[in-house]
Amino acid sequence: MADIIKLLPEHVANQIAAGEVVQRPASVVKELLENALDAGASCIKLIVKDGGKALIQVVDDGIGMSATDARLSFARHATSKIQKAEDLFNLSTKGFRGEALASIAAIAHVEMQTRPDSDETGTHLRIEGSEVVSQEVTVTSKGTSIAVKNLFFNIPARRNFLKSNHVEFRHITDEFHRVALAHPGVAFHFYNNGSELFNLPADNYRKRIVHIFGSRMNQKLVPVEEETPIVKIKGFITKPEFAKKSRGEQFIFVNNRFIKSPYLHHALVAAFEGLIKSDTYPGYFLYLEVNPASLDINIHPTKTEVKFDDEHSLYAILRSTVKHSLGQFNVVPALDFDHDPNLDTPYGFRNKSAITPQVTVDAGFNPFREKQMGNGTTQSYRKKIENWDGLYVGMESSMGDNIGSNSITYESDTITGSIFEGENEPQETITTTFQIRRKYIVTTIKSGMVIIDQSRAHQRVLYERFLKNSTIKEAVSQQLLFPLRLSFSTSEIDVLQKIESILVSVGFIFDKIENESITVTGVPLLVAESEVGMVLDQLISDYQQEINGESFSHTDMLSKTLAKTLSVKTGEVLDRQSQLALVNDLFACKESLTSPFNKPVYITITENDIDKKFI
Ligand code: ADP
Ligand code: MG
Repeated sequence: MADIIKLLPEHVANQIAAGEVVQRPASVVKELLENALDAGASCIKLIVKDGGKALIQVVDDGIGMSATDARLSFARHATSKIQKAEDLFNLSTKGFRGEALASIAAIAHVEMQTRPDSDETGTHLRIEGSEVVSQEVTVTSKGTSIAVKNLFFNIPARRNFLKSNHVEFRHITDEFHRVALAHPGVAFHFYNNGSELFNLPADNYRKRIVHIFGSRMNQKLVPVEEETPIVKIKGFITKPEFAKKSRGEQFIFVNNRFIKSPYLHHALVAAFEGLIKSDTYPGYFLYLEVNPASLDINIHPTKTEVKFDDEHSLYAILRSTVKHSLGQFNVVPALDFDHDPNLDTPYGFRNKSAITPQVTVDAGFNPFREKQMGNGTTQSYRKKIENWDGLYVGMESSMGDNIGSNSITYESDTITGSIFEGENEPQETITTTFQIRRKYIVTTIKSGMVIIDQSRAHQRVLYERFLKNSTIKEAVSQQLLFPLRLSFSTSEIDVLQKIESILVSVGFIFDKIENESITVTGVPLLVAESEVGMVLDQLISDYQQEINGESFSHTDMLSKTLAKTLSVKTGEVLDRQSQLALVNDLFACKESLTSPFNKPVYITITENDIDKKFI
């Protein structure tokens, strides 16, 4: 029998490959945008006509190509991005298959103009259905422009299969969103049928999201952040009250690549469980970073499906991180889904301006009657706790009779009893505590004992209070007897001016902010006069660092800094009353298990655990 097997001609092979790579105009958009990003572009233009059927053009200012490279880029399996199979396990580029341009050129009219920065002239190349029609030297700006016209001109069946211009355009827009969201540091322009649709300057993640989805999005976003050895998570979820009837604003990126993962999507939905109605969908913009070696992006030709090494852990981490963010920001009343009116600031109070609490002098006080406490900070915790109640000084007088003071129950008045296992266990108020090594507070519960890290516990308590307090329009300040003048560098003053309004919202009052000094006349109740300088220093440096990340809200950052700076520290002796107050306050917190910096706050040891030690 005669031999019958033949190698397919190159252009036929390319057309077949194109069937996989190019399903519709949006696939071309994705490949061209990704090539531009891989080329290190800082500004990318996307130009589309008639749903991409007539024209898709991407213009970048990246590294460009030499004449030889320009020609070679259209050959199949031609890539500058990997050289050997091992490179596949350490990919930092979007592309690596070397198939996209070859495939596109097989089924369209393609025109490329490209010039590397180092060359004076560039290359102008025209290819139609895998055939080079012309190649010329040309004058063109640095970077690459690729125009793809008449998609599927030589495969009528595929062309007829395309949807309406409108539908194809929607797919293109989706693709554009994904790429632009993953790369906020790159500027993008998007023109459709001659008019500019998007003009996205290079910015941070939050602003990129807002630029794309409109300024109303800004108030909907809740930051998410977590770092574990397996994965680093950054990004935003939308507040539960903004859950939508349709899916849509749901994005997960892994190493700056948009991915589809029904499994991880499920983790997100699980985190929102109970917070949104069952037929609505939460929005999310999550950026995951994992070790490229633990990720296989090769399982799908168009690369939106990926395979993780440790998917189960990822699921758990994602779910708890999002839950945590929701819990943390649930403190803001606007976010409460199951709205608890007890946590509201009473109306009369909301509109009041700052109140200076009255100083009451204890006429019977004799400093020599009691022994001075050994450690000043012992009292300071108590003082802070007491002062906290003072935040509500003046409230009774401002409220009508219909709201008796009994109707106001603050979080700290109730024990949530989250650590008391079992439904039928009484919600007890803790009455016995002791301190060990000036570091831990130990207390007993029905099922055993709890060991609490005193400093982290106090951080948690203060953090939630500041967070809550900053939602009160006019925070209560304590007026300083003598205005405090503090010096700062001009750049520090600059920062202070930027955050002045936030500082005022938690109770600072500034008389003057000058070139190199500020005058403080009032401070939040929880801050002692002697601590003002330290607190402001800390705030400025945290803010300066935060600018780079800029993922968390200012209020959150401020609350964290204040909590960190003002909390009792390891090594401080706490008297019994302070210990009790701390423990009870902690368990009244929304999220008592972890500190604002995600460290464990307490551990429990059950009777069972103890029994085992005695075997
Ligand atoms: P891949 O991206 O998988 O390498 P492509 O077919 O998309 O394969 O591109 C082939 C090669 O052409 C790339 O590896 C790159 O070297 C070059 N190239 C493509 N687009 C550009 C561009 N916009 N700027 C610079 N080089 C490009
Ligand atoms: Mg590519």
